[in-house]
Amino acid sequence: MTPSAPLPAAAAELLRKFYGYREFRPGQAEIIAAVTSGRDALVLMPTGGGKSICYQLPAMMMDGAALVISPLISLMEDQTAALVANGVPAAAIHSAHDESLNRSAIEAAIAGRVKLIYISPERLLSDLDGWLRRCRINLIAVDEAHCISQWGHDFRPVYTQLGAVREAFPAAPLMALTATADRVTRDDIAAQLGLRDPLRWTGSFDRPNLSLRVVHSAPKKQKIDTVVNLVRRHPNDSGIVYTLSRKGAEEAHEALSRLGLRSTVYHAGLSADERARAQRRFSDGDVQVVCATVAFGMGIDKSNIRWVVHFNLPGNIESYYQEIGRAGRDGLPATTILFHSVQDIILRRNFIEESGRPGIAAEKLDWMQRYAEAGICRRRVLLSYFGQVMEHDCGNCDVCSNPPERFDGTILFQKAASAIIRTDSQVGIYMLTDILRGSAKTDIHRRGFDRIKTFGAGRDLGQAQWNAYIAQMIQLGLIEIALDDAGHLRVTPYGLRVLHGRLAVTLARWQEPQRRKATRAKTVPEISTDPTEQLVEQLKAVRRQVAAKAGVAAYLVFSDASLVDMARRRPSTPEQFLEVNGVGERKAVKYGRQFLAAIRKFEGLGALPQGTTYKETLILHNARVPLGDMASIKGVTTDTILGHIARLTDEDMITDFSAYISRHDFETITHTLADRPADGYTVLADQYPQGIIRLARSIAEYHKRHGR
Ligand code: ADP
Ligand code: ZN
Repeated sequence: MTPSAPLPAAAAELLRKFYGYREFRPGQAEIIAAVTSGRDALVLMPTGGGKSICYQLPAMMMDGAALVISPLISLMEDQTAALVANGVPAAAIHSAHDESLNRSAIEAAIAGRVKLIYISPERLLSDLDGWLRRCRINLIAVDEAHCISQWGHDFRPVYTQLGAVREAFPAAPLMALTATADRVTRDDIAAQLGLRDPLRWTGSFDRPNLSLRVVHSAPKKQKIDTVVNLVRRHPNDSGIVYTLSRKGAEEAHEALSRLGLRSTVYHAGLSADERARAQRRFSDGDVQVVCATVAFGMGIDKSNIRWVVHFNLPGNIESYYQEIGRAGRDGLPATTILFHSVQDIILRRNFIEESGRPGIAAEKLDWMQRYAEAGICRRRVLLSYFGQVMEHDCGNCDVCSNPPERFDGTILFQKAASAIIRTDSQVGIYMLTDILRGSAKTDIHRRGFDRIKTFGAGRDLGQAQWNAYIAQMIQLGLIEIALDDAGHLRVTPYGLRVLHGRLAVTLARWQEPQRRKATRAKTVPEISTDPTEQLVEQLKAVRRQVAAKAGVAAYLVFSDASLVDMARRRPSTPEQFLEVNGVGERKAVKYGRQFLAAIRKFEGLGALPQGTTYKETLILHNARVPLGDMASIKGVTTDTILGHIARLTDEDMITDFSAYISRHDFETITHTLADRPADGYTVLADQYPQGIIRLARSIAEYHKRHGR
């Protein structure tokens, strides 16, 4: 183990300046410290965990550029757009660009004019021995790194050649990042990329802000009503309806449109153009709902998706988790609802059988079904699937808010656990049930399991009951299924603590399946009367206008989290605006005014006082933004900006002018004005812009005031 490196002080400053964030998320500081000190890293963080900053910040801190390898074109596009919006030069190179765009990106990269180069794996491999050799690459990030492993759920053969990038740039630290990978996949990634003693960071998969709800056997109308309610509650946001089939997506889209919702549809049966358009409209916040099959969502970087509804049961927990994970990436509350029906299970089973290779797929569907039918906290079930134990109920799922009858299951578990241990962990669920029930099956006799102490210790319960309780024990993380050992059961370290009486467990009382009553969707409350929430809705409307005018996606203006913070703080001046979480200097100046106007109106304050605009220039000056950029951010001429700088000089608000005027020009101007009081100004006006002359005079006054 290499000791952990300290985090350079510049990192926190950049986080604040460029992203407007006050604190790192868990793991970010450690990872940034490691890679800036030259160490490799293997980062496992759920979607929305904040992986991008882990390579973007180091890229800004280092000389040269970072190479980011990603298979998701829309993600590359979104990220480069977001970086450029925040003032960080970045470019993307991939097959969806026409070659002239790629050309200019490559030229910029060779000239060292970009800090981040996003590239697709195909393009990387073909260009590795070409222009890339002429770039100063000081960091390499492989995004969606699970694609490298055939153990992962999204294997892409081209990824297996990515090891070549390490050989091409042996000195650059290499990072692999992914949102889904079990232990086997993780080790495979590290080996294939040739990671050297990487920092291994595994973030928590818990997304407490996502509420989880499963609704059983709902008719179509109830599904549509649920969506209508969600849209009514979040009129300025978007959500996703996932359906199993293309036809299902079309039908949902038609039903919702007929009810007056702004909806679109997305599935693999549409042309590439139609799909791109749907995706754009969704990203831009143009539609309230997209009705889609699983084809939709890869690379969606929209942080303000407020809800995801599954009209049908997904085929496995990975997909389900990834799909619901697209909601609430900004950390604010988001709703997820899964409609579950027996028909879906049958349909899925048929699919799997027809596919001809049941094995893993069938097992994964079992897990998905167990999740949907669980009588215990759903989040605990989800997390235990990813090998993470949560020792308390979440309070934010339908089971927690409407719990079935509970009982102390400690003794029941102890019987099961001791039976597992006494068989040397060599049995699966069914055999374990047989042992506990004292079955007379010959297998049990032959293997001598009828002689262990717990044989028949659970005779009082039926087979279905034991199966259900063992499933709960697995879901709680007390027992695990060893996939690398023929599916045999093992007691986990958490389970051992219960077995030894150090902890108790609560189980949900088993019910006959048909007696479980259908949970009806709670009616979602109507539009809020809370003033902060109302202001948030108004700010969202402002954001849509601003984004449309600037021709960028709404989330690139400000995230929902920023709008909520804005509504809480209610800043009324540009300086206060800068305090809002997620507001960096450039965005404060570029978009601040419209938002301030809305807030001031809400507060009954009237328009912003005249003459505050030069103070925004001070913000940019303090951020060391070059003059030309200042002008384009504010949408005024450089002369106007120089006028602001002069005024700030007059008011002693800035003391360093070297970025705007050279010593030589300053002296020429002041001398000419002193020597030729009558016509000096006219002479200079031919050679210098107004603003420069004005600034030179202000600086001269400044020197006089301060006795220089
Ligand atoms: P991932 O790539 O892991 O899916 P992202 O990097 O896209 O996640 O981050 C998800 C969201 O969280 C983005 O909106 C991002 O700006 C935000 N975010 C990242 N780091 C922080 C932080 N330290 N504080 C607040 N928000 C953050
Ligand atoms: Zn729960």
